Amino acid sequence: MSTRTRERRFRDYPIEPVPFTSVEVQDAFWRPRLETHRAVTVPYTLARCEETDRVENFVRAAGAAEGVHVGTQFNDSDVFKVIEGASYALQTQANPQLEAELDRLIELIQAAQEDDGYLYTSRAIPGSTLRTDVEGLERWSHLYMSHELYNLGHLYEAAAAHLAATGKRSLLDIALKSAALVESEFGPEGRLAAPGHQEIEIGLVKLYRVTGDERLLRLAQRFLEARGQVGERELYGTYSQDHLPVVEQSEAVGHAVRAGYMYSAMADVAALAEAPGFLDAIDRIWDNVVGRKLYLTGGIGARHDQESFGEAYELPNDTAYAETCAAFANIMWNHRMFLLHGKARYLDVLERSLYNGFLSGVAMSGDRFFYVNPLSSDGRFAFNVSEGATRSPWFQVSCCPTNVVRAMPSLPGWVYAVRDDRLYVGLYVGGKARVRVGTTEVGLTQTTDYPWDGEVRLELAPEAPTEFALRLRLPGWAVGRPVPSDLYRYLDPAAGEVRLLVNGESFEAKVVGGFLDIRREWLEGDVVALTLPMPVRRVLAHDAVEADAGRVAVERGPIVYCAEAVDNGGHALGLALADSTQLTPQQEDDFLGGVVALRGGGLTLIPYYAWSHRGPGEMAVWLKRS
Ligand SMILES: [Zn+2]
Repeated sequence: MSTRTRERRFRDYPIEPVPFTSVEVQDAFWRPRLETHRAVTVPYTLARCEETDRVENFVRAAGAAEGVHVGTQFNDSDVFKVIEGASYALQTQANPQLEAELDRLIELIQAAQEDDGYLYTSRAIPGSTLRTDVEGLERWSHLYMSHELYNLGHLYEAAAAHLAATGKRSLLDIALKSAALVESEFGPEGRLAAPGHQEIEIGLVKLYRVTGDERLLRLAQRFLEARGQVGERELYGTYSQDHLPVVEQSEAVGHAVRAGYMYSAMADVAALAEAPGFLDAIDRIWDNVVGRKLYLTGGIGARHDQESFGEAYELPNDTAYAETCAAFANIMWNHRMFLLHGKARYLDVLERSLYNGFLSGVAMSGDRFFYVNPLSSDGRFAFNVSEGATRSPWFQVSCCPTNVVRAMPSLPGWVYAVRDDRLYVGLYVGGKARVRVGTTEVGLTQTTDYPWDGEVRLELAPEAPTEFALRLRLPGWAVGRPVPSDLYRYLDPAAGEVRLLVNGESFEAKVVGGFLDIRREWLEGDVVALTLPMPVRRVLAHDAVEADAGRVAVERGPIVYCAEAVDNGGHALGLALADSTQLTPQQEDDFLGGVVALRGGGLTLIPYYAWSHRGPGEMAVWLKRS
C-alpha cells in the first residue's frame, strides 16, 4: 500500500513536483544563468518597467501623478510578471533591498486598484483615450482585445509567488479583491465570457491553491468551458482557440502563446477538478503539436501572421515565429503533462524547448532578448528587434523578457518529482536536493557536466534505509528518438549504449514510461552512475516538412546545433554538410561562455541557443545535405 507523503487538501496532479526551493542548482551550465538572473535580469527588467512608464501608469491610475496612460493595454502584466520572477529569486536568496522594492511597487498597485477591486490602468487613468476595439469603452466590454483578464492572471500568479517568498499578504489581498470582483461578474451568477488571451485561468488555479476557495477553481474551469460555445457568446475564432468547445479541440491552432497557456490551464483543471473531456482533448492536441507542429528547437508557432501555429508540417525556418513566450508555454504545458501521465516523453519535449528554443530567447548577459527565434537568419531580418538581427534590450510589447524573468528561476522545480514511493529524476542538472519519498526525507546530490557530457552521478542520503523506486529519465535522444513522434528522426537511429551502475555494479533496470526504474532499499551513501551516450547525431525531418527537404540538422545530447557566419567564412545559409563529414566535439571553456563546439569538414557548429552573441550574421540550423 502506498503512503501519501503529504497531507493534500484537495485532489491534485498524481505526480508532485519537488519545488524549486528544495533544489539547489550547483552546476556549470545553469548556475551561472541563475546568478545572472538574480544579479542582472531582475533589476534590469524592473528598471525597464520604470523607464517605460509601466510603473508610472499605476501612479497615474491612483491619481498621484498627472499624465495619460503610456504603452499597450497589457503593460500592467509586465510589472506583475517581474514581481513574480523577483519573488522566486527572493525565495532562494534573501535580498532586503529587492523585497523593499517589491513592497513599494505593491503599494502603487494597491493605490491604483479601485474600491470594488477593479484594476486596469488603461481605464483608470483620467483623460486616457479608450478605444472600442482595444480597451473597450466600458469595463469588460471588449474582452477579446482588452487583456483586462489576461493582466489579472499575471497579478494572481505574482501574488501567489510573493506570498510564498515573503509570507506577506499585501499582493495577495489585492489579487483576492480583484478575483472576488471577477467572480461576481463572470462566475455562475454572472455572464458567460472568455478572455481573448488566456492566462487568468492559470492565475486563478494558483489563488485556489493558496486559499482552497473552490469558487476560484470553478471560475477557471468556467472560463475554459465558455470557449467555442456557439449561440452563447460571440466567438473570437481560431486565433484565440475559441472556434470549438475546448473538449472538442484536437488541433493546435491560432496564437501559440494563448494556446500554450490554455493547454496548461486545461491540465491544471483536469488535475484538480471534475472536467470530463479536458484530458482527452489536451492529449489529442499534444499528439498534433509533437507530430506535426514542433520545431526541432522545441519552439512552437510557425507564422508571424497572428503569431500562430501553421498547418501540419508548416515549419519554415527563416520566418519561424517560435516566440520565446511560446517556448516557455510549451515547457509549462509539457511539465504538467508529465505530472498527469508520468511519461518521460513530455520531459523530452520540455528539455528540447528549454535548452534550445527557450534559452535562445535570452542572451548570456541576461539583458538582451529575442522575441522570435527563427531557425535560419540572413543576419538582417528580425522582427520586433531594434538593431539588426540581434537580441534586443527591450520591446514595446515586452512579454518575452518578462517571461524570462519568471521562467529562469522556475527551472529547478522541473528537475525532480515524486509519486508515492517513486522518485523521478526528470532533468539532469547538477546540485543538491531535499526530497520526501513516502515518509522518508532523502538528500540527493547530482553531479554532472550535462548537457555537454552524459555522465550523471547521483548520491542518495535517505534519513533511514528505505525501499523506493528511483526513476531516471531515459531521454529519447539517447535511445535513437529525437522527438516522441515521426516528425524528426536520426539519420542513424541506432540507440547508443546506456550504462547504469548502482554502487559500482552493473544494474539491469526495467524501462517504465521512458524511465529507468531502480527499485531497492536505499541506504545513505548509495551511488547511481548513469552514462548517456552523446554522439554527434544528424537529424532529418519528416518528408512532409518542405522547409527541411534535402536538409540535415545536427544534435548532440539535448543540444541542437547551428552554423553561424562568423565561424564559417562569413556565411551560413549556403553551407552543405556531407553525410561522410566527421564532426568532432570540442569542449571550449572560453568560447561562448563554455560550450562543446562541433568541428569538421571546414565547418564549425555551435549550440543554437548561443547564436547571435557576436554581432549580426547569417545562421542556419538546417544545412544542405550532401
Ligand atoms: Zn513574448
